[in-house]
Amino acid sequence: MTTKPDYDALVIGAGFSGLAVLHHLREKGLKTIVVDGESEVGGTWWRNNYPGVRTDSEYSYYSFSFSKEVREEWAWTERYPSGKEVLSYLQFVADRLDLRKDIMLNTRVTKAVYNEADNVWDVSLSNGSTVTATYFISGMGVLSRPIWPDIPGREKFKGRLLHAAEWPREGVDLKGKRVGLIGLGASGIQITPTIAPEVGEFYVFQRQPNFIVAATNPKVTPEELAHVRATYDEIWERAANHPFGVDMVPAQYSAKEVTPEERQRIFESKWDEGGFHFANECFNDLATDHESSELASEFIRGKIREIVKDPATAELLCPKDYSFNGKRVPTGFGFYDAFNLPHVHLIDTKTNPITEITEKGLIVDGKEYELDVLICATGFDAMTGNLTGLDIVGRGGEVLRDKFKVDGIGGNLGIMYNGFPNFMVSLGPQTPYSNLPVPIQLGAQWMANAIDFARKNNIAVLEATPESEEWWGKESERAAKATVMYEQGKKAKAWFLGDNVPGKPREIQVYMGGGQVYQDYCRQAVADDYRSFRAPEFA
Ligand code: NAP
Repeated sequence: MTTKPDYDALVIGAGFSGLAVLHHLREKGLKTIVVDGESEVGGTWWRNNYPGVRTDSEYSYYSFSFSKEVREEWAWTERYPSGKEVLSYLQFVADRLDLRKDIMLNTRVTKAVYNEADNVWDVSLSNGSTVTATYFISGMGVLSRPIWPDIPGREKFKGRLLHAAEWPREGVDLKGKRVGLIGLGASGIQITPTIAPEVGEFYVFQRQPNFIVAATNPKVTPEELAHVRATYDEIWERAANHPFGVDMVPAQYSAKEVTPEERQRIFESKWDEGGFHFANECFNDLATDHESSELASEFIRGKIREIVKDPATAELLCPKDYSFNGKRVPTGFGFYDAFNLPHVHLIDTKTNPITEITEKGLIVDGKEYELDVLICATGFDAMTGNLTGLDIVGRGGEVLRDKFKVDGIGGNLGIMYNGFPNFMVSLGPQTPYSNLPVPIQLGAQWMANAIDFARKNNIAVLEATPESEEWWGKESERAAKATVMYEQGKKAKAWFLGDNVPGKPREIQVYMGGGQVYQDYCRQAVADDYRSFRAPEFA
């Protein structure tokens, strides 16, 4: 190359991933630019504004560990912070670490092409310019390409049609309105109890019930915050060594090893503790043993029957076709209680699917439900959607979405792909299914170290070897097969398996072998001088 590239690295996305990558690349002295199509930083937490949006993880481990200033100066106010609070946190991170000067907002990457002659990425932007960068890094997020339900007639609806993931920033007045909701994943589960008290009539269209673990959300006291700040390094260490990236103690026993009374006592105590404590701390095999998963399922069904007063509604809310951990477990803040309100109606669309969306509402079992507002909380083309939705063109003109069809989606450790030199992904397909700030930060540090190593050793190209891709695909498959989700997820239409998107090839989307195991593999790659990231002819 005759001229220097414009940047050492170009990163797409100014959410958790982009901010962490920018911070760590700067530490290594790389001239870096982050490009984001939105008008503000925050990524997922900027875009997701729907009523009730908040974390499912507790604040104490839902944050970065790398900046002492941020840790000391930022004050969380709720155990499970609202979306607004997480957004403020990310804005604070951007300001406190002076990241904004290297972030270009309101600009989309429209195409990225590897220019082999110059060993740079030519990145086209929505403002019409093209910039060059040696390293091209995706921080586009894993759950940010929304999907709408494949129900005919959507365009006919004359009322207000909304998607949870594209909620208007100015908010929506739902007071007294006839509101319909399609979708009861983590998003719909948060929307339901939040809007139920204010709407006129609320029709919740449920195709498949979910196992929802309850949580309470107390305010964070100054004493508690001081303790978290003082012990943050230990909290982070525990989260980084936990399979699910949370500050929790992995359980020691199988649900089958204890007496029924003891099991009930443990289930009850962790249910009261709330949220992911139930999933992670009761027993060590709720995600890996079908019988144990079914024991947890039955406990939750009991809770549903206890909370929901109308027995027919309670039965409809009880998942019976798959068991606990068959898909991502959401946290509910008063979800089941909402169905005790007289104007909240649960409509079963599994037995009788929604056949049509009409001008006035939608039709189930020949009956038209008239609506002023229809909310779709129908999820995302998870993990791969953003990568396949962009033209990412590697060596010899190969497009990433085409490579996925041939070689699988995971590359090497979900970070890099053969044929796509110096292209890296934060939270790529087949990276750990876990509390995400942990793998995001560790991944950003890994990338910065890898690039630093390459620069110091005059390695012009980092790129997954074909062997490493084959190995990682097999390891991801092996790890998934050891979980109940692998079988149960088929019945649950889990996004973990791509089963939530009609026509998407069935492939494990995340690494299910545990975050700490994944980090061991990442450390091993470093110890091996990144050999599996150095395709032989370029090493
Ligand atoms: P989701 O979990 O994929 O749920 C989508 C829902 O829409 C399901 O109930 C699904 O029903 C329903 N649906 C989809 N297409 C439909 C159709 N054609 N007809 C009827 N129903 C249809 O999506 P999500 O709730 O947006 O959550 C996705 C992920 O985002 C979560 O798993 C989580 O990782 C993340 N998230 C996290 C938080 C948090 O941490 N606080 C909050 C929100 C989201 P079926 O089950 O019958 O397929």
